[in-house]
Amino acid sequence: MKRTSHIPELREIIALEKEKGRKIALVPTMGFLHKGHLSLIEHAKQTDAFVVLSIFVNPLQFGPKEDLSRYPRDLERDARMVEEAGVDVLFHPMVEEMYPRPMVTFVEVSELDTMLCGATRPGHFRGVATVVSKLFHIAQPDMAFFGQKDYQQYKLIERMVIDLNLPIKIYPVPIVREEDGLAMSSRNVLLTSEQRQQAVILSKSLKAAEVSIRAGQRSAQEIERQLRERITLESDGVIDYVEIRDTDDLSKVTDIKRPILLALAVFFGKTRLIDNKVVEVDQDV
Ligand code: AMP
Repeated sequence: MKRTSHIPELREIIALEKEKGRKIALVPTMGFLHKGHLSLIEHAKQTDAFVVLSIFVNPLQFGPKEDLSRYPRDLERDARMVEEAGVDVLFHPMVEEMYPRPMVTFVEVSELDTMLCGATRPGHFRGVATVVSKLFHIAQPDMAFFGQKDYQQYKLIERMVIDLNLPIKIYPVPIVREEDGLAMSSRNVLLTSEQRQQAVILSKSLKAAEVSIRAGQRSAQEIERQLRERITLESDGVIDYVEIRDTDDLSKVTDIKRPILLALAVFFGKTRLIDNKVVEVDQDV
């Protein structure tokens, strides 16, 4: 596996592969990798493309009171993991490489960036869209892989690619979970053991909500109420949001008639966890 922290060197490596007729697949991450990231790599490898994995903890997507300095990092462990997983090139730039001077140019995907996570994290998705655009321009991939764990991020990038006519196919990858159901996240190591145990309520409550919808409940308000009640009663988690949205445009849903996204964000202490579930519904139930 090749590895570089420099943009010109990465461009050279990729240009050589493109000359050979190779397709390029990009897997953007913030590192401290886990099986969720490995699943993105597996999906990318299945396409036979040359796989570029980036590790960059992007300051632009963290608010001033957020956990940028606490964000877990271990580049050497990550490098061993991605080499074993068959990544072709690891790109791990320093902040100065990506932002040599203060940015004045940004990519904003309006509407999609102010709802759900965007409501509590103003500027977060502008930071995400801008850094992903930069990575797209640097690596010029034919395809890029995003986890459904960050469903809103995946939809926002998909929309950005459409709106800006970028010739890049966006592949969503299903959420990878721990054995007890907790969605894998680099932030899980920030939880105390008690918080870690309680955090299982997120996936449990989402499953219960799915069961309730399958049993015929069609009121989004009632499902949201059930989710909130379960999380509040069974944990010390502080709810940021619990919402039911259209899987496609993320608009609010009142009557559950088409596939919906159950989405939630909950604080355990200072650590904010997100999880979601897509529920397909039979139109005539
Ligand atoms: P991050 O390093 O947290 O920025 O995540 C990098 C990519 O991995 C994003 O596309 C995430 O959605 C994806 N990802 C993170 N956790 C998971 C997971 N548990 N399952 C699937 N994809 C994930």
